Order: sequence, then structure tokens, then C-alpha cells
Amino acid sequence: MSTTKQTILDFTKKDLEALVKPSFRAKQVYGWIYNSYVNSFDEMKNIPKAMREELEEKYTLNPLKILHKEESTDGTIKYLFEMTDGKTMETVWLKMKDAQYDEEGKILHESKHTVCVSTQVGCKVGCSFCLTAKGGFTRDLTAGEIVAQVLAVKKDNDHASNRRVNIVYMGMGEPLDNLENLTQAIKIFKEEDGLAISGKRQTVSTSGLSSKIDKLGESDLGVHIAISLHAVDDELRTELIPMNKANNIQSIIDAVKRFPIDTRKRVMFEYLVIKEKNDDLGSAKKLVKLLSGIKAKVNLIFFNPYPGTDYKRPSREDMVAFQEYLINHGLLCTIRDYKGIDISAACGQLKETKENEKKDLV
Ligand code: SAH
Ligand code: SF4
Repeated sequence: MSTTKQTILDFTKKDLEALVKPSFRAKQVYGWIYNSYVNSFDEMKNIPKAMREELEEKYTLNPLKILHKEESTDGTIKYLFEMTDGKTMETVWLKMKDAQYDEEGKILHESKHTVCVSTQVGCKVGCSFCLTAKGGFTRDLTAGEIVAQVLAVKKDNDHASNRRVNIVYMGMGEPLDNLENLTQAIKIFKEEDGLAISGKRQTVSTSGLSSKIDKLGESDLGVHIAISLHAVDDELRTELIPMNKANNIQSIIDAVKRFPIDTRKRVMFEYLVIKEKNDDLGSAKKLVKLLSGIKAKVNLIFFNPYPGTDYKRPSREDMVAFQEYLINHGLLCTIRDYKGIDISAACGQLKETKENEKKDLV
């Protein structure tokens, strides 16, 4: 039987203060979980035994089990996690920069990492190019399950608590469709006595639920947003992202303009490039026009094909030509050089591969 115990990772420090008395115990418990990385309540030595036992009885410390791990040559590690109800989801550990050493081999800068987390099992949005969408929607992740992903991959990589990571909410699911748990997870990550990952280091990627972009902005958590734009006209965007009908391009642009952004920062627009769909310079021209007046940067993503899709990966030449057009017209633009290209790279692809293997076995 799977356990139905709630995870203690669901709580901000304030929530915990209401549960463990006197309230300074919350700080101690937080320290054990997020700084000492303990695996059992019993290891929390300065917590009275009776309290440890009570916590043990009510909560689990780790709601995730590593089911599968795929490591790429560039240091990217893709995890498939199983939750307490047996459902699975993915998390990716991305190495953004290698460590740097001086001539004597002494470390100058440590390597830099980003964790790509999931927010739902499946997704309701149903984008036509996305493998996660194919399995439909199963359920929202709890705040604790979102938090646990970062904690688990940091632990698995011996990454000390005080070493910084960035978080991108770009795994499976639509984060703004699970706004309450997302908000709670962002707050827990920010806790000074916990992982202390500031809002600036967290980026929420959305397919563009305009009213929820406003809501996230109102909560004033200081996070960045990334908009999965992918198309410059509503017709193609609706083909790619069906809910564009209710949240059209203009409504998203308007919501972005209202979003509180650090004046030194830019809003990221993700543009998934699909061969012969949106890889032409006419689209690039429209994109420049659309983003004029916004402090934007564009991230071009190669469509990553999978069996059964009709969409195709664009050529590198077309991608570079698209990028050059944007840069020459004053936009900042990068090409996502696909991390983990030799593993099941895009969102949902590891889960899908593993589930098909399982089906093949029966
Ligand atoms: N639901 C959110 C965040 C998760 S999807 C969103 O859509 O923004 C994260 C990113 O993966 C999105 O930018 C999406 O466009 C991209 N993605 C999905 N399927 C892909 C594929 N087959 N190839 C490349 N990128 C893909
Ligand atoms: Fe959901 Fe994002 Fe996939 Fe679209 S791309 S189906 S919003 S996870």
C-alpha cells in the first residue's frame, strides 16, 4: 500500500511554526531538512524525541523515489521520479557552466546548475507538439512534491545546501494551472533558513494563461516569467496551443506589460521552431514588431521530434538565419543548444520512453 502521509516539505517556515511549539523548533527542523539533508526525523538530534516521533507519524520527509536516471555527456541528468501514489514525473539537472580552475588546479568558480522542475502529472493545455500533452492530465503536484524535486537532485549530486541553483518551472505541466501550489513552492524555496533561492533565481514558464500571469504578478514574489510564444499569428498559435483561443497573443503581450519586472531584467519569450511552420524570416519580422516596446529576450528552441509526430526539426541554417534577423533588428536572442540531446531531451520524453518500455514488457 502506498502511504498517504503528507510531506513536511509542503510547509513554509511560518506554517511549520504553527505546528511545532515553541516556534523556534520550526527553524531547527527547517535546518535539518534543507541544510543537513537528513533522511529521517530521528536524525534531528536537537528536537525532543516525542516531537520527532510525532512528526514521523504524521509526515514523510521524502515523497519521491528515483525510478530512473539518464545522464548525458554534457552533465545533464534527467530523473524519473515516482510519487507516493505511484504516479511519475520528470526533473532535469542541467549543468550550465563547468567549474573553472587556476594553473595549480585550485577551483576558481564552481560549476553552475539549473533544476528544471515539473508542476503537474500530464497537462490540460494540450499543445499539439508536446509529448506531455499526449497522455492527458492526471493531477497537480503538491507544493511539497515540487520542492522535493530540487532537494532530491541536490542531494543526489552532493550539491551543498548553500550552493546556488536556479530553478526553471519548465518540466511537465502548466505551472500557472497549479497556481496555488506553485506559489507555495516558490515561497518555500525562498526561505532564508531553507534553500534560500531568491525569486530572481526562479523562472516560471507558461503557455500564456493571461489572467494567471496577472495573478502571479500580484503575488509579488519577484520571480521571472518566460512566455512560450511559439507563433506570431493567432491562427498558427491556436493550432499549436489550443487555449490560445481564450488567451490570444495580444492578451498575453498586455499581461506581460503589466507584470512587475526588475527594470534591469528582460522577459523571456520562448519560440519553439518547427520546420516549415514558423521558421521563416517573415515570422521573424512579425516577431520583432510584436515585441517592440517590451524589454524582451528570445530563446529559440529546436523542435525535438518523437515517434508519431508530423512536426519536424528545423535546420541549423534556418535557425541561425532567424536568430541573426532578430539580433540585427535589436532583439536579444539565443538558441537553446539542447542540453541532453543524447538523452530523451524535451519535456515528457523520458517518462514516455520508460512507460512504453514497460508496456513492451507485458
Ligand atoms: N507548460 C509550460 C512549461 C512546461 S513546457 C510551457 O508550455 O511553457 C516547457 C517547454 O518545453 C516549453 O517551452 C515547450 O514549448 C517545450 N517543449 C515541449 N515539447 C517540446 C518538443 N517536442 N521539443 C522541444 N521543446 C518542447
Ligand atoms: Fe502543457 Fe507546456 Fe506541454 Fe503545452 S508545452 S502541453 S503547456 S507542458
